[in-house]
Amino acid sequence: MVDDDPAEVDWEEAVRMELEPDAIHESRDGYYFDCPECGSPATIDNIIEERRCNGYLNEQVEGIDFDVENVSCSAVLRLELAYSAGPESEQ
Ligand SMILES: [Zn+2]
Repeated sequence: MVDDDPAEVDWEEAVRMELEPDAIHESRDGYYFDCPECGSPATIDNIIEERRCNGYLNEQVEGIDFDVENVSCSAVLRLELAYSAGPESEQ
């Protein structure tokens, strides 16, 4: 298992995917995505704050039937929000 330091990740080289509505799941603790590497839940808080999925962090998501106990994962995660503003919004 490669234990990448999130600070060392070359984000230019990272795989990117567009998020469809069905990629977002809701739990009692908030919204989460499925980790593209290990399939465990990756809560938005953990992606933004830890850059890791809950499988890597060994953090069970309440109410979700996924056992993170024996999951190992090397994925470093980041959320991006892309936007393109129209000329009329420029002041
Ligand atoms: Zn993962």
